[in-house]
Amino acid sequence: TFDVLVVGGGPAGAASAIYAARKGIRTGVVAERFGGQVLDTMAIENFISVPHTEGPAFATALETHVKDYPVEIMNLQRAQKLGRHGDLFEVELESGATLRSRSVILSTGARWRQMGVPGEEHYRNKGVAYCPHCDGPLFKGKSVAVIGGGNSGVEAAIDLAGLVKHVTLIEFDSKLRADDVLQRKLRSLANVDIILSAKTTEVLGDGSKVTGLVYEDRAKGNNHTLALEGVFVQIGLLPNTEWLKGTIVLSARGEIEVDHHGQTSIPGVFAAGDCTTVPYKQIVIALGEGAKASLAAFDYLIRTSAP
Ligand code: FAD
Repeated sequence: TFDVLVVGGGPAGAASAIYAARKGIRTGVVAERFGGQVLDTMAIENFISVPHTEGPAFATALETHVKDYPVEIMNLQRAQKLGRHGDLFEVELESGATLRSRSVILSTGARWRQMGVPGEEHYRNKGVAYCPHCDGPLFKGKSVAVIGGGNSGVEAAIDLAGLVKHVTLIEFDSKLRADDVLQRKLRSLANVDIILSAKTTEVLGDGSKVTGLVYEDRAKGNNHTLALEGVFVQIGLLPNTEWLKGTIVLSARGEIEVDHHGQTSIPGVFAAGDCTTVPYKQIVIALGEGAKASLAAFDYLIRTSAP
């Protein structure tokens, strides 16, 4: 039996585990892929105090730091159900095993929705990007496209317009879905073009980097090619919370609802990082939220457990 069982081994989970273990309580981390999204990241230049690092190096550093403490890491294990057994929580794994703990921290992160078109996967991190806060500065002086005309796409286009030479926003629908105030701001920018009713069908490249994209004009049915160096895909961030539906309160977007202490709708179950309603999905934020949820779990344990 654990005192704190962390589900998810990204930045939020690693921070939760370290903060729990430093209280001298029995701590476990179960993760489908220890390291999380950071494993898919190239340059990281906004982790404050480290001007530049690479995703895989950062993931290794997370793991090394967690292993400095007596934390039981169960990697390559996927949780599929959260339940109860008397006073304890039970986390059922796909492997068939069941883990029991007095408190749980959910930190299963999120994944960017992909377009699913040829070239997208090949040029990921070679021009295809998902996070303007992370990768925007890498495209200084270049031309980029933003795919998606919802709030996140339009925010990304406004943000990027201040950094890059030119932005083309491509929306599938015949109108943008972003808030009016954002649309007005976007339309006021001189270096932004908006293309509506356009379906991106391919990301083009020279083998090592993006050189353009192809979109279909959905009204006329013909194809167009745009020459550019970057494609920011902004068609949704999907929290990895499908397995919690019906168990815990989720937002309309599937994010775990948490309060200021990272407390979920179930006392004793906390959540942190990209899988929660906390805005702005970033490494520094996930780390801080993980630490916070862990301290809150410790507070919960000292208030609820028999001496
Ligand atoms: P994640 O990193 O998503 O980790 C989730 C963990 O939960 C993983 O271990 C996963 O395997 C596990 N998991 C999921 N479901 C289950 C389950 N059912 N059972 C068990 N385990 C499960 N942020 C920055 O600050 N700077 C950057 O430069 C930057 N660049 C990025 C580049 C890319 C390509 C991407 C994809 C993201 C980038 N981000 C960047 C965002 C950053 O990676 C995330 O905000 C951060 O990793 C969130 O941490 P997390 O711990 O909440 O979730």
